[in-house]
Amino acid sequence: MNTKFQQLVKLFQKLPGVGPRQAARFVIALLDQPEENLKELGESINHLKRDVRFCDECFNVSSNHSCSICHDTKRDRNKLMIVEKITDLESVEKTGLYKGLYHVLGGAINPLDKINPASLRIKELEKRLDTMLALRQAQGDNLELIVATNPNTPGETTALYLRDILANKKGVSITRLGRGLSSGSNLEYADETTLKHALEYRK
Ligand SMILES: [Zn+2]
Repeated sequence: MNTKFQQLVKLFQKLPGVGPRQAARFVIALLDQPEENLKELGESINHLKRDVRFCDECFNVSSNHSCSICHDTKRDRNKLMIVEKITDLESVEKTGLYKGLYHVLGGAINPLDKINPASLRIKELEKRLDTMLALRQAQGDNLELIVATNPNTPGETTALYLRDILANKKGVSITRLGRGLSSGSNLEYADETTLKHALEYRK
């Protein structure tokens, strides 16, 4: 077997959900592509970290300090949905039902993978909440925090942890997205109808 081929297969295997066979299929498919497509792909990957950045506020992908959602004045600033990953945010956005803001944690608490609260963007969330609450004190509106972590063990652990540390914040109500989502499932792969249901009937 060609070592360059195998090297690329190994690199693809580092991506989530890609096994050795799938990785080999990717490399074979790339070999079928015209040279210029491969060059374009290579350039994009080369400059990915330079060209794509994260929103300073919610940690969604962005081309500026503030992403298009945080920037949008029509979004409901009384709602903040906490998700594990950017792909979860995208799934919820696709339903078109949610018009509030987001906060991307960057994962969920999982001692097996050595992911603890300090490895997630929880400090950033607390800081952001304080700023949001200070801004609204005069208006008297309640801020709804929708915890939309996955309905599996790490997701539930994270939801409990967040409830624990945020419960005493004045002017905040915490709801959990979950009804209709089967336990152990993943928000990212939930179909739109299920997500709509989970959003409408949050508890
Ligand atoms: Zn943002």
